[in-house]
Amino acid sequence: MSREELYQLQKLDTEKERLKDSIENELMNEKLLKLTKQLKQLKAEFETKKEEITKLKAEIKEKEFEDARVIRKEEEYKNKLYGETDHSPKELEDFQKKLTKTEENKEELEDEMLELMLDLEQKDEELTELEEKISNKSGEVKKLKEKLMSYEEDIQAELNEIKENKAELEDRIEEELVEKYNKLYLNKNARAVVKLKDNYCMGCRMTLPRNLINKVKQSVDLVFCENCGRILYWEEEVE
Ligand SMILES: [Zn+2]
Repeated sequence: MSREELYQLQKLDTEKERLKDSIENELMNEKLLKLTKQLKQLKAEFETKKEEITKLKAEIKEKEFEDARVIRKEEEYKNKLYGETDHSPKELEDFQKKLTKTEENKEELEDEMLELMLDLEQKDEELTELEEKISNKSGEVKKLKEKLMSYEEDIQAELNEIKENKAELEDRIEEELVEKYNKLYLNKNARAVVKLKDNYCMGCRMTLPRNLINKVKQSVDLVFCENCGRILYWEEEVE
């Protein structure tokens, strides 16, 4: 009986659509997009931090050179002040002034170096933290991708099964009827075959005339709703 088969066909089509429009799939894809964005952001932060560290190290190196130069100068003035060579009081005063100035420079420089090193230490820590975050986020992305892939494989397997079942059913229905059904399914909001309940059509909720109802209940032929044109289906209530 084609009516029964068309009803089964519609069940398969409904299931097919439900699988395709899966909200779970959509949510997973949304989450994946979000995680991927976060990962990209973290990687960018990591690169910036690395650049900052490279700059900082170069700056420290420069200061170290400068410090070595200042230390040499300090030694030089000390030698002149306390060395064997005789100098005039005017010269000695001048050396003392220069030494004091150099010592001040050195102290300032060393304070700056200390600050830079503390900054470097802080940035190194931040880099390690970022590395950890990236590793965690990558793990999350990988896990979700795997989950999504296995989910999609499952869905595909189910869809394939539906396709097979549909082909089997369609083989048993006249081609003309399948076409008619397909058209109705498209035009009637995915409800081509509707149940008859308490004398009305479940598609359009119209009460149907007695003779039509009897025809649906008694004959094996296809009966269409007079109002909405859908195929009427009748199922004996199982008590
Ligand atoms: Zn109707």
